[in-house]
Order: sequence, then C-alpha cells, then structure tokens
Amino acid sequence: MSDYDFDLITIGAGSGGVRASRLAAGFGAKVAVIEEEREGGTCVLRGCVPKKLFVYGSHFGHDMQDGSGYGWSADNVRHDWPAMIAAKEKELDRLHGIYVSLLENAGATRIHGRGTVVDAHTVAVGDKHYTAERILIAVGGWPSVPVLPGAEHAITSNEALELPKRPDRIVIVGSGFIAVEFAGIFNSFGSETHLVYRADKVMRGFDEDVRDTLTEEMSKKGMHLHPGTLPDRIEKVGDVYKVHLNDGSTLEVDEVMYATGRHPNTKGLGLAEAGVELTKGGAVVVNEWSQTSVPSIYAVGDVTDRINLTPVAIAEGHSFAETVFNNRPMQADHRDVPSAVFSQPPIGTVGLTEAEARDQYGEIDVYVAGFRPMKYTLTDNPERGMQKLIVDRASDRVIGAHMVGLDAPEIIQGLGIAIKAGATKAEFDATIGIHPTAAEEFVTMRTKRPDPQERQAAE
Ligand code: FAD
Repeated sequence: MSDYDFDLITIGAGSGGVRASRLAAGFGAKVAVIEEEREGGTCVLRGCVPKKLFVYGSHFGHDMQDGSGYGWSADNVRHDWPAMIAAKEKELDRLHGIYVSLLENAGATRIHGRGTVVDAHTVAVGDKHYTAERILIAVGGWPSVPVLPGAEHAITSNEALELPKRPDRIVIVGSGFIAVEFAGIFNSFGSETHLVYRADKVMRGFDEDVRDTLTEEMSKKGMHLHPGTLPDRIEKVGDVYKVHLNDGSTLEVDEVMYATGRHPNTKGLGLAEAGVELTKGGAVVVNEWSQTSVPSIYAVGDVTDRINLTPVAIAEGHSFAETVFNNRPMQADHRDVPSAVFSQPPIGTVGLTEAEARDQYGEIDVYVAGFRPMKYTLTDNPERGMQKLIVDRASDRVIGAHMVGLDAPEIIQGLGIAIKAGATKAEFDATIGIHPTAAEEFVTMRTKRPDPQERQAAE
C-alpha cells in the first residue's frame, strides 16, 4: 500500500466512472468515488434511460390509433403527463439505488460533493483534500445554450425530462440526436412541435439517405421543420414565449428547448492548472490508454469527447481498470461502434456512411431499399423506412449498414457483430432471412444502386 489515501480517486459516478471504480475496487484497489449529484450520471438520470421511457410512452397513443386498422377501438384515450413523470422518477430512484449498491458492494468509498483537481495526486472536495496514486476524470458533459437575448428562458434536455406539464407548443432548436428524439417525443404526445435548425436536413454527419429519410418522415408525422433558420431572440410575453427567427418569422410557444450541443464538464475542475492538456473546447486530451498528459491522471467518457455514448464510456472505464489495476492491458476499440437514434422512426447505424466509404475506399457498392413496415399495412400510418448496405468492392467486405424504421436499433446491433467480424457481402447473401421481418432485407439485397457517375450519365 502506498502513502496515498487511495489507490484511485474517480471524479464523477456516471457510466464510465462507475464501471472503472467498481472494477478497480474488485481487483483489490482502494477506491473513492466523488459525485456531486446522484450516482448514475447522465445516461441513467438525464439521458438514455428517461429519454427512452418517454419514447416508449409516446408511442402508445399512435399504437392505439394504428390498432383501429386491426379492429380495435379505443375511445376517450387520454394521457396523464404527471403520472408518467412520477413513474419515471420512481424508476430512476431504483436505478440510482442499484448504482450505489454496485459501488458499495465492490468496497468503494462514496464521497458526496464537487471534486476539483489540486495536483497530480490530490483532489479537493470542499475544504477536504484526498490523495491518490491515480485520479480518474469521468465528469461527463453538460448541455450548451448559445448566448442570445432571452436565452435564460430556454430549457435543455435536463429540464425537458422533468416538466410538470406537457407544453401544448414547443420549439426545439437543433437537429442532432437529442433534438430529433425530443421532437418525436413531444409530437407523439400531442404537442405542436417545431424543429428549428441551421442545416438543410436533420442529423448532420449521418449517411445522406438516413438524413433524407428521417427528415421526410418527421415532416410526414406533423413535426414543423424549419431548416436553414435559427432564433435571433426569445421574448417572454405573459405565459408564452415568442421565438424570433432569423428569417423574420416568429413562433409563439409554451417552451423553447435548446439541443444544439454539449460541452465537457471541465470548467473550474483545476485540470489545466495541474498540467492536464485540454482541447480548445475543454475536452481532456488522452492517449489510447485514456491517460492524460499528466501520467497519474486518466480520463474516460464524454469528458474526452471521443464517441459520446454510454457503452463507449463503459468500455473506456473497463479498459482503464483492467490495464491499471488488473495487469491486463486493454484498449477500448472505437472502430465500428454501432449506434441508434430513438427518433420516430428510429435510426440504427454501424460503420461508414456512403460519403466516408467513397473517401476511404474509392470503389464501393451501395444497396438501398425503401420499405413500408408490415405492421402498418392494415393501418393509415404512412410511415416508411430505409435500409442500406455499403460494400468495399475490392474485398467484398460490408463496411456500413444503416437503417431508418421500426426496430432499426434492435436490428443494427446484430449487424454490428457481423461488420466487426469482417463479414463479406457474399456471407450476408448466404445467410437465410427470417420471414416475415424487415431485417431479412439485409440478407436479400441483390441490386446495386448505380454509381453516381452512371446515374449522372443516365440523366
Ligand atoms: P456522465 O454519465 O455524464 O457522468 C458524469 C458524472 O460526473 C455526473 O454524475 C456528474 O454529476 C458528475 N460530475 C461532474 N462534475 C463533477 C465534479 N466536479 N465533482 C463530482 N461529480 C461531478 N448515450 C447512449 O449510448 N444512448 C442513448 O440513447 C443516449 N441518450 C442520451 C440522451 C440524452 C438526453 C443525453 C444528454 C445523453 C444521451 N446519451 C446516450 C449519452 C450518454 O448519456 C453519455 O455518453 C454517458 O452518460 C457518458 O458517461 P460519462 O461517464 O462520461 O459521464
């Protein structure tokens, strides 16, 4: 045992911090975990979990409407928003309890308060100082709201998950995954939903067919899309907000939500003063072992701004603990990370977009299919989906799979394994489909989309 109070002090008990700390404690290290709010972090308390519960909740209304196509009648259907919020809070309390038990059962010491780094081996919480051989920064991120007149009236995803009353009308600013997910939620619960964003379509950085399909489907579902616009100012008039857009128009709503990005939680943390290199945006710079420029200080999760997803933060925390406390060197693998967007309809994606694939591989084959989910054939629901495979022509390896549509996240998880394993298009084709499913399309796609040059020549 060293002269330090602990072998490891972790700041932040979210996805990455908890995984790293409980594993390290399980490997025999003396561990303290500092958390200023509740153990569990963004995903459990302000992100993935409550968001997905809201997505589920919001679907029931439409399911009942769709059911009429199958002979069901559900008259006088109404939704009790406060009841849902209360049920969600109960579930979050339960999950928080699980996170506390995970840490305590592993033998980690829990310290409540805001941790700041004093030097390479010292952390302060209030006026108390604790020393450790190693420090792990796992403080995550926080929503950013740009500076504009009236910005103080805007809520973020944090507050949107706790509103005591459902807004009848809402403006959501942004077009990334949080913006489109919340737009789907509020729209499905019956709010008049406006999405205001700078780009020409939603989900910048995703495959263009995904972007086109989701933009169109969101519009078909009645969401009011305002591409190429941004708010200039937000004015409070009595109980409502007037959002003045830069195209001269005004939207009058009950809530304004900003979902235009998140920043790493490093402000005032003492990292730069301790010699830890940060990016311009405040993210902690780490090497492939999650080690910072100060060798005793490591960082995992959103604070490093690598791939800001829970399973990635967990993998990074896991690898850190194995490497440093179990003598088993491991690096989190950031290639081919599958991901989902729980928009309505949802997205599942893994590997390269078509544009990235053309850039990296040159010659590729692209297979695309549009589909109408069978579930909706007896209904008036006009929702359609899209599936796409991208193949490296030289090796026949499938290097990208994308889907928009019912169950896309569940379907893409399996394809993620195939792509990680290096499956070829011939192996996809040799796989028997499961009928009748949407997923079977991925093993029956035979017609290549003509190359852009061929399409141009044909026009
Ligand atoms: P966090 O989970 O954010 O944990 C950081 C912890 O540090 C927090 O508990 C915080 O209170 C604490 N903390 C911060 N500063 C200090 C300090 N100085 N002292 C003490 N404690 C401190 N990811 C997915 O994979 N799937 C999804 O569907 C998904 N949905 C999301 C939806 C929303 C609305 C949001 C905001 C995020 C979503 N994410 C999703 C992203 C996911 O939540 C994050 O990637 C993940 O939580 C990152 O984990 P982390 O350990 O880096 O940090």
